[in-house]
Amino acid sequence: MGKNYVCFHRETDTSLVAENIDELFELHHKAVKFLEDYTGIMEPFGDFEFTIIPAFQYSGMEHPGNIYYRDSKLFLPKGATESDIMSRASLIAHETAHLWFGDLVTMRWFSDVWMKEVFANYFAAMIVNPNYPNVNHDLLFMLKHQPLSYGIDRTAGANPIQQPLDNLNFAGTLYGNIIYYKAPIVFKMLHQTAGDSIFKESIRKYLQKYSYGNADWDELIAVFEAHNLPNVGNWSNAWVKEPGMPKVSYLVTDTAIIITNKNSVPNTRLKQQQLEIVLSYKSKVEFKTVTLDKNRLAVPLNSKEKPEYILLNGSGYEYGYFPADSVSKHYFLTNFSLIQSDLQRGIVLLNQYEDFINKQIKKDDYSKFLHQVIKNETSVHLLDVAVNQLKTVCNQFNQPGKVDTAT
Ligand SMILES: [Zn+2]
Repeated sequence: MGKNYVCFHRETDTSLVAENIDELFELHHKAVKFLEDYTGIMEPFGDFEFTIIPAFQYSGMEHPGNIYYRDSKLFLPKGATESDIMSRASLIAHETAHLWFGDLVTMRWFSDVWMKEVFANYFAAMIVNPNYPNVNHDLLFMLKHQPLSYGIDRTAGANPIQQPLDNLNFAGTLYGNIIYYKAPIVFKMLHQTAGDSIFKESIRKYLQKYSYGNADWDELIAVFEAHNLPNVGNWSNAWVKEPGMPKVSYLVTDTAIIITNKNSVPNTRLKQQQLEIVLSYKSKVEFKTVTLDKNRLAVPLNSKEKPEYILLNGSGYEYGYFPADSVSKHYFLTNFSLIQSDLQRGIVLLNQYEDFINKQIKKDDYSKFLHQVIKNETSVHLLDVAVNQLKTVCNQFNQPGKVDTAT
C-alpha cells in the first residue's frame, strides 16, 4: 500500500504555495525512497506528515511522524538562487534522514547527540549532491570543515569529538567546532576505511539491531568491527576519543616518497588515514591512494622524473598538517595559478596557511603569495578563502607587540 504524504501550513499567498508545493512533496518522497533502499528499512512512522510554521525557531525539527519546518526555508520565492534551492533540498533530506538516524535509533545519552547530526548531514549529501553535478562538492566540504576544525585542533586546548557528559545542564558545552566540523570528516573516513559495501551493510545491521531503541558511538563501531573491520576500534579511539591533528610530512628520494606521520598531542594513539597522493609532473598528473597506518611509510615512485609538486592530501578529505617539501613549496608560491584543479588549489591554500601558522613561511612571503592569488583566482570560493587569510595575516600578525585581548 502506498504512503500518504501530508503537508500542513498556514501560508496565505496561494501563488507561493502553488509554485512550491509539488516540489516539496517530490523532495520528501525522493529522500524517503533513497533511505528505504539504502537502509533496507521502510520509513518507520506511517504516513509522512510535515508542518510548515511561520518563523519556526529552527530550520527543521525531526519529530517522528511530523517534521516541522520554518516557512521561509521551504516556500522559496520566484528567482531563488541555486544555493537556496540546494539548501532546501539538503534540509528536507537531513530531516527525513533523522527518521532513521535519531528517531528510529536514538543516541543513548547526550554525549553522542552529534552522531545523529553527522548521520543526517552525511545522508543528505548522498541524496542531494548527485542532483547538482556542476557544484564542486569535495571542495565545498573541505572549505567548510577543515579550517574551522584545524582552528581548534592545532591548539593546546583541543578537545576530542566524544566527551563525557555527567550533567545534562552542561550539554551545550559539548557543542563547538570539533563536533560540527571534525566529526563529519571522521565519519567520511569511516566510510573510506570500510568501503561502500561494508559501510552500507554495517549501517543496515546497526539500524536493525537498535530499531526503536538506543545506541552509542561504540555500539556503532562494534557493528563495523563485526563486519570484517577488526581494527576499526583502534581507529575510532584515535580519532574520536583523542584530540589533535597529525603532522604528515614527506621527503622525496630517487625511488620513493618517504611519509612520516606524527601526532600533535603527546601520548595519543597514531592517527591512521587514507591518503590520495597527487604527483604532478610536467606532462601528466598521477594519483596514488595509500593507507597511512604506521608512523613511516615508503611509497614507490613509478617515474624517474621528479614531480613538480606533491600533495599528500589530494582528495580534500584527509585531515592534518601537511607541510610541503621545499620543491613543492616553491612551486606553490610561484606557480599557484597554473594548478588546473580548483580542489587542488584549495588544498594548497589550506596547507600553505598551516605552514604559515607554524612559522614555516615568512609573513611577507605569505602576504605576497596571497596578493598574487587574489589577483588571478577564478574560483569565487577560493577568492573568499584567500581574502579571509589575508585579513588574518594583516590583523593578527602584522602588528608587532600587539597583545591579543580577545576573550
Ligand atoms: Zn538535525
